[in-house]
Amino acid sequence: MSEEQATVAPSGEAVAFKAEVRQLLDILAHSLYTEREVFLRELISNASDALQRLQFEMLTTSDVREPEAELAIWISVDSEARTITIRDSGIGMTREEMIEHLGTIAQSGARNFIQRASEGGKSATTSAIIGQFGVGFYSVFMVAERVTVTSLSYRPDAEAAQWEATGGDTYTIAPAEQAERGTTIVLHLKEDATEFANTWRLEQIIRKHSNFVAYPIYMDDRRINEEQALWRQAPRNVEAEKYADFYRQLTMDMEPPLLHMHLSTDVPVDLHAILFVPAQRERGLIERRVEGTIKLYSRKVLIQEDAHKELLPNYLRFIEGVVDSEDIPLNVSREAVQNSPVIQRIRKSLTGRLMRELGELANNDTEKFAAFWKQFGVFFKEGLALEFEQRDEIIKLMRFYSTHHADETLVSLAEYTSRMIDGQTEIYYLLASDLEAARHSPHLDPLRARGLEVLLMTDMVDGFMLSGLREYEGHTLRNIDDASLELPGVASEQEYGSLTEEEFGALTKRFADALGERVKAVRASKVLRANPSRLVWEDALPGREMQRIQQLLGQDVPLPPRILELNRAHPVIVNLAQRIAANPDDELTGAIAEQLYDNALLLEGLHTNPASMVSRIQTLIEAAAKG
Ligand code: ADP
Ligand code: MG
Repeated sequence: MSEEQATVAPSGEAVAFKAEVRQLLDILAHSLYTEREVFLRELISNASDALQRLQFEMLTTSDVREPEAELAIWISVDSEARTITIRDSGIGMTREEMIEHLGTIAQSGARNFIQRASEGGKSATTSAIIGQFGVGFYSVFMVAERVTVTSLSYRPDAEAAQWEATGGDTYTIAPAEQAERGTTIVLHLKEDATEFANTWRLEQIIRKHSNFVAYPIYMDDRRINEEQALWRQAPRNVEAEKYADFYRQLTMDMEPPLLHMHLSTDVPVDLHAILFVPAQRERGLIERRVEGTIKLYSRKVLIQEDAHKELLPNYLRFIEGVVDSEDIPLNVSREAVQNSPVIQRIRKSLTGRLMRELGELANNDTEKFAAFWKQFGVFFKEGLALEFEQRDEIIKLMRFYSTHHADETLVSLAEYTSRMIDGQTEIYYLLASDLEAARHSPHLDPLRARGLEVLLMTDMVDGFMLSGLREYEGHTLRNIDDASLELPGVASEQEYGSLTEEEFGALTKRFADALGERVKAVRASKVLRANPSRLVWEDALPGREMQRIQQLLGQDVPLPPRILELNRAHPVIVNLAQRIAANPDDELTGAIAEQLYDNALLLEGLHTNPASMVSRIQTLIEAAAKG
């Protein structure tokens, strides 16, 4: 702060912009932009913020200049003089505030922006993102050669001041005459920006980018933007297109939302809300956001910029929207909002409605729901492990890949249980790093032989989710890598192979020696069919799914020793046993044992260093080439 103060000049003098502002101005002034029109959106957004802040002050302070003045934004054009004037009756700025807010860049995001822009990013991208960095105001220099800001703060004792800049290295600040509270910005347009000195053009821009601003925007005494907040309108009167427009202006996400819902009730609580499910989990051009924002209004006053924590469970944190209720007391702290019974009620109805709508989507539009689930399923999975709100509803939404389908079709637990075979009581699942690996898992052998369906879980959070989903309608969920797995149904005849006990015994000993600490035991499998080997857990070790997550997260958790099962009838095993019988010191068998072990880890996604296998594979290739 002290550094800032040093730059404060005596009245009317030139002050140097902070270095990062100079850099930014340079970029803005000397680039060609295809979307220069966004400067107006940025100025209107600042005016709207200023009005919001004033309204909030009025609730808490009695001493406000001109308390009766209309809260609005006025825009006018003088095409002859090539100027645009934007005035608001908002909170205003004192001389010091102008120096602080218009002479420096507060947010660190600005630095990112400068870097991006100067790295020669596409100029269209630059203008589209400019508002996301807290550098919105400076976008005026895309179209203006001179900008004058005159402001009178809401504080009764404040004096008006004027700030002026041409986009060069300095600005001037001086006392000013302005009788009305708020801020007036005059843009002297550049020659190549004459198109904006046109009422019709500006009106078009306002409709496109600022239609849903909560305060009236007037041009020539005519209101340009939507009269009534969209969420306060009757849902049946709102065209679908409006929702998409509103979404874009609210979130700056250019992709239309996947779903919107509009709630409008008066009893038991007054509640007007529009909520959106975005199309993508990660949105925004630069700083990819996954979390949405829920603006909370009461009696048209924005009382919280983001009330997500208060209004929705954490697993719905990707939802975007606006909530408005007259029943929320205005003058309350954040804590009080949280504990208010009205908020609890609203939370319940919002959550209930969202889950219901999602449930309906799942029933009526499988494809759209699958798209939704692939984006946002992870949130619900995490929610199932950590939260308790609407558990049953979450479980109804859950979808998994399954061996029932050869493609990426998702199935619900209800579908799974409807296909269970006679005598089946458990729901079988398999954890793997991806679908391809899952389908190659040797653990599937015995289930395939019996026609049993297996859910294929490939999300990192699945292991975590399972800690909150132990059973479904009385059916335990069972990991099929469990050695003691008892399966229902009849399997096709198991082949036992031609090896003698002795031959097989020698082989298992050779394997155990080669693998050492890595395995607890090596033994014959009762279930393997198509695959030579697999790694199993001796008992359904609780917490092994969590352990898997820690390993996936790269935490330094040692792999616990497991049991290696060998398929006595598999040609690989038969041939190896014969090799050992012929030559007890055979080197290759040890390498193959290690490779089979590594293969198992790979399929589970647990191999920490696949590159380490290369030299071994090389040895095996050489041996194979020799014949
Ligand atoms: P942001 O809006 O993200 O803070 P801007 O560059 O758009 O960044 O604006 C910088 C700051 O200038 C604002 O935070 C605000 O303090 C001040 N400001 C800009 N326009 C106005 C206005 N019309 N009324 C009051 N303050 C304003
Ligand atoms: Mg702004």
